[in-house]
Amino acid sequence: MYLHGTSRINARGHLEIGGCDTVELAQRYGTPLYIMDEALIREKMRAFVDAFQDTGLAFRVAYASKAFSTLAMCRIVDEEGLMLDVVSEGELYTALSAGFPAERIYFHGNNKTPQELEFALDEGIYLFVVDNFDELMLLEHIAKEKEKRARIILRITPGVEAYTHKYIQTGKEDSKFGFGLDSGQALEGVRQALECTHLDLMGFHCHIGSQIFETEAFQLTIAKMGQFIKTCYERYGLVTRIFNTGGGFGIRYHKDDAPKEARDYVQAIAEAVRKYLHDLPVLPEIWIEPGRYIVGEAGTTLYTIGAIKEVPGIRKYVSIDGGMSDNLRPALYQAKYEAMLANRAQESATETVTIAGKACEEGDILIWDLKLPQVKQGDILAVNCTGAYNFSMANNYNRVRRPAVLFVKDGQAEVVVERETLQDVIARDRIPARLAPKKASVTVG
Ligand SMILES: *Cc1c(COP(=O)(O)O)cnc(C)c1O
Repeated sequence: MYLHGTSRINARGHLEIGGCDTVELAQRYGTPLYIMDEALIREKMRAFVDAFQDTGLAFRVAYASKAFSTLAMCRIVDEEGLMLDVVSEGELYTALSAGFPAERIYFHGNNKTPQELEFALDEGIYLFVVDNFDELMLLEHIAKEKEKRARIILRITPGVEAYTHKYIQTGKEDSKFGFGLDSGQALEGVRQALECTHLDLMGFHCHIGSQIFETEAFQLTIAKMGQFIKTCYERYGLVTRIFNTGGGFGIRYHKDDAPKEARDYVQAIAEAVRKYLHDLPVLPEIWIEPGRYIVGEAGTTLYTIGAIKEVPGIRKYVSIDGGMSDNLRPALYQAKYEAMLANRAQESATETVTIAGKACEEGDILIWDLKLPQVKQGDILAVNCTGAYNFSMANNYNRVRRPAVLFVKDGQAEVVVERETLQDVIARDRIPARLAPKKASVTVG
């Protein structure tokens, strides 16, 4: 397993993260357990900021909350001076509750509800990324009623799609997100936005995919958008102040993954901006909004190994005390992870096993064909790169309690999300009077 950030193997032969012995953490806080390497999170944020500073461009780096949103995470984003992208009232509420300044928040999403738009407008967020014509009209209407003005940028579907090693110029725009560029919707969106009396059109956004390793897809997008931005200026006199090139920067989940450094992505973006946008009256501020790249590699999940089942001549299933309830990605889209035994981190691999989650689903397999030392019940399995889209997709399937989240740093571990209790599992359940039990059969409390 590749060791990210402050992860290392200590003198006891245990996996250590942020100066904390993970075997001790498992004993103290129980498993499954999410551990986040705070130093690595900050390092990733600074890598983007530093790289942009070196380009000399006006820029903003945002963090896409949906990858991992908690109060403590919002504090780090605030301390590091990044902007925050939210996609729901829940993420917005989390940020505001953490004291994150509204003027550094912006709102994404293809179907923001009227309540969400009102809430965000009342709180004075920096801007809205308007996704479609209906939202444009709705936001204009709400802003007018409230006698407010809202800053907006339009989400454009540029006809470029990227995913890991490949990108394609689709030409078609079959996406639920954004105004299509090639179909002319984008230009029509601009025309309508400029007619709105309570909306200020500041620029554009595009996001072309996730877990992207190559930089050409970003450059191609900037080339296409540069042309569009020029057309908007020539046709409508629109000065584009903000150009948000999205997120999607890839990370190293697996030994076959070969991501680039933050600096490589930023340099490629800056190069394309200078090449394709140089003849505009004003060079727009360039925004990016990574999620996964900032938190993905910082996360590790610990599990305790339980039942082991050998299917003779076929495979050995090693079951853990979590699975698709705390990491949905393998079941959802065959995501691949690496793992090691945290308590016997130095021992060499002698067998190949399949890590099975405890959910009642045959598809709940966390890792196929993982090489480990001879596994025993009670061993602690550490799966790394679980910082993005794990906690944020965690669920209570099988009424499993969601794990605690720890931040570790300089030998200190702090709980930033408590493990759910059994009371939490039933907290919102109600029994209609007619179904009331004669007497409770368990003592709850
Ligand atoms: C999901 C998403 C992001 C973040 O993507 P990552 O792959 O986590 O960097 C950024 N912008 C938009 C619009 C998204 O939908």
